[in-house]
Amino acid sequence: MAKIFCVANQKGGVGKTTTTVNLAAGLASIGQRVLMVDLDPQGNATMGSGLDKRQLALSVYDVLLESASIAEARAQSDKLVEAGLSYDILGSNRELAGAEVELVEVERRERRLKQALAEVDGDYDFVLIDCPPSLSMLTLNGLCSAHGVIVPMQCEYFALEGLTDLVNTIKQVHANLNRDLQIIGLLRVMFDPRITLQQQVSDQLKSHFGDKVFNTVIPRNVRLAEAPSYGLPGVVFDPSSRGAQAYLSFAQEMVERIKRM
Ligand code: ATP
Ligand code: MG
Repeated sequence: MAKIFCVANQKGGVGKTTTTVNLAAGLASIGQRVLMVDLDPQGNATMGSGLDKRQLALSVYDVLLESASIAEARAQSDKLVEAGLSYDILGSNRELAGAEVELVEVERRERRLKQALAEVDGDYDFVLIDCPPSLSMLTLNGLCSAHGVIVPMQCEYFALEGLTDLVNTIKQVHANLNRDLQIIGLLRVMFDPRITLQQQVSDQLKSHFGDKVFNTVIPRNVRLAEAPSYGLPGVVFDPSSRGAQAYLSFAQEMVERIKRM
């Protein structure tokens, strides 16, 4: 059975997509069967995995509107296959922005992705869902499908306050829609240990959330930021960089965590 995780934080630009694609690549590199679902109309996870979002024959939009199954809509990236590592991609593009409105009239609209994933459950060890920076119907579809949420966050002054909305949403989804859902962990990203404030916030996070804070810390590393322009995850673009090494450790940590789930 596949373990399904959302990478979510309603705050923009906190490293959700970078985490999704690098975790997908990291897990694939240690032999895990991975499906990455891009649930953001920006399509950054699609592009960052080497698929051109403007050229998708079918996307997650078709799956949510039930005009295609995941088996029909998933694709692989030639770039990743050439690099000797691959995961399946359910891509996204601007079309997905319309799904929000089109789903309004539909029954059980928050469960469309969950139903579709059930059909391919046996094909994967991990499904990773990159969520948009909002708590919208799209994110809700992700949360309804998942066993857990991975929350990437920067250790900044308002980090804890910003978590409240997300934690409340997750509690509500847990209570009303998906009893499986839990926060798997908070992932400290773009971390710079030279900044005292980041150390302080990191300590605060650990005292508030205990072992819900992942041991792995992702450093700020320019190679991770450069990789998407080559259509590759950092883990593939420059495997020896500090950022890539951190995401590879994170993949190992996730494999260990799910043994305890
Ligand atoms: P959005 O909310 O728009 O979907 P996001 O949460 O998915 O954004 P990313 O797109 O992953 O965030 O990251 C935002 C920017 O920060 C990108 O330019 C990315 O390349 C860069 N970035 C992410 N992680 C790191 C890192 N560890 N070191 C350096 N740059 C990073
Ligand atoms: Mg993103």
